[in-house]
Amino acid sequence: MSLSGKTAVVTGSTSGIGLAIARAFAKEGCNVVINGFGEVAAIEAERSKIETEFGVKAAYDGADMTKPAEIAGLVHNAEQTFGSVDILVNNAGIQFVSPIEDFPVEKWDQIIAINLSSAFHTIHAAIPGMKARKWGRIINTASAHSLIASPFKSAYVAAKHGIAGLTKTAALELATFGVTVNCISPGYVWTPLVERQIPDTMKARNLTKEQVINDVLLAAQPTKEFVTVDQVAALAVFLASDAASQITGANISMDGGWTAA
Ligand code: NAD
Repeated sequence: MSLSGKTAVVTGSTSGIGLAIARAFAKEGCNVVINGFGEVAAIEAERSKIETEFGVKAAYDGADMTKPAEIAGLVHNAEQTFGSVDILVNNAGIQFVSPIEDFPVEKWDQIIAINLSSAFHTIHAAIPGMKARKWGRIINTASAHSLIASPFKSAYVAAKHGIAGLTKTAALELATFGVTVNCISPGYVWTPLVERQIPDTMKARNLTKEQVINDVLLAAQPTKEFVTVDQVAALAVFLASDAASQITGANISMDGGWTAA
């Protein structure tokens, strides 16, 4: 079955991995709903580019992933605009790095809300329609940190382990309804966010660009190469295909061998 004419909602898709995933589904002929923060003009430019480049409809919904009512609204608005939510990608996420004893309580709450609870709220809202149509794909952007920990990333690691558990539970509940639920666990992905950290780290640690990339960012990634956003997006498209209909409840690593170590 082709993905053409289906609707994909991708949270946190105004930049980075989410934007690549939204564009990849649009390329397959899906109407897409993008979501996330950023400059109004830049978001509108990305939205209209999707429509002209791929000949599909693209909508923007600015729902804040810390607000349950807005998250439910994202799903319901998409159903109203396009008739269904067939593919749901829970991708919005933020990071904060600090020892646990100094970790600001509000940062903990924010990370758990955006990186974990928002996926509960979108799934909660999208399930009735998917079950009724007996077809759906739920894809969660987890992380290598859904499988292993790093110090000083307590909230992020807890949220990502949580999303792996939510993925498995939802997969079991939806297994007989034609709805698959999986997560993708990237290692370090080359995004503007990662690129922007390089100059600061070079200055702070007195390192060259190559040293920052190889010895800091890619220290744990055996291939010594970044994952690309397009590689993550290609896996998401595969998980939505018929060929992947028996893949459910899986946590698929794309981490250059990081979690093999
Ligand atoms: P990014 O900062 O480029 O994108 C994050 C997106 O989430 C943006 O669109 C942002 O506007 C949106 N967002 C943030 N807070 C939000 C909120 N409250 N409500 C709605 N949207 C919100 O980051 P990215 O690197 O593309 O990360 C995307 C996902 O991939 C995250 O879940 C992240 O944990 C995961 N991930 C990233 C990497 C990496 O190396 N970049 C590795 C593994 C996993």
